[in-house]
Amino acid sequence: MNLARQLYQLQELDLEIESGERALEQVTGQIGESQAVLDAQAQLQSEQERLEGLKHQQHTAEWEIDDISNKIAAAAEKLFSGQIKNPKELASLQQDVDMLKTQCNRLEEKALGVIDQVEQSEAAVAGISSELKTLTADWQRQQKQLAEEMARLKAALSDFKQKWQRLAQEIETETVEFYQQLRERKGTAVAKVEQGICRGCRISLPTTDLQRARGRNLVQCSSCGRILFLA
Ligand SMILES: [Zn+2]
Repeated sequence: MNLARQLYQLQELDLEIESGERALEQVTGQIGESQAVLDAQAQLQSEQERLEGLKHQQHTAEWEIDDISNKIAAAAEKLFSGQIKNPKELASLQQDVDMLKTQCNRLEEKALGVIDQVEQSEAAVAGISSELKTLTADWQRQQKQLAEEMARLKAALSDFKQKWQRLAQEIETETVEFYQQLRERKGTAVAKVEQGICRGCRISLPTTDLQRARGRNLVQCSSCGRILFLA
């Protein structure tokens, strides 16, 4: 095989390896925790804590209402039992009952407000939970895809690297080194020649260069120094 063609193929493989490594780096960067999932988890935890506090308030209020209701019942029983005859004492007892009833009403109003907040918080917890579930499922699906893409890229890269090794073994070591140095300096070491023009620098090549480039030996463009390859 023409040496320039071999080096051109080596360059094609180098380009594949470079772009594969870039893609792999990009995929690797996307693997990891999701900020959206973490945010939703934190939000859920704080809402659950709020709900717990509200439920505690609700139970306390209910307990207080029970307690005061018992007191009202006991006072009313005493009031209507007929045991107390003294009008002053009766009036005072009636006053106690009225006061307890007012207190009870206030507590019931407060309890209703808390129950309202509990319901709102329960709805918020359900909403965030459902959002978190969706976010987690999306994230898991994405991570699975990324892992698959990563495996595919790694396999392709290793394939290209093997091909590179095999091809490089067919070429003299000094020539491969020369190619690599040229590539480091110029980015592209081998330039295709199309219609007598070097694609590396777009200069029209002299006929003698073109004739020499058809042979077995390597010919460099007299303008840009790249290895000429006649396709
Ligand atoms: Zn050139």
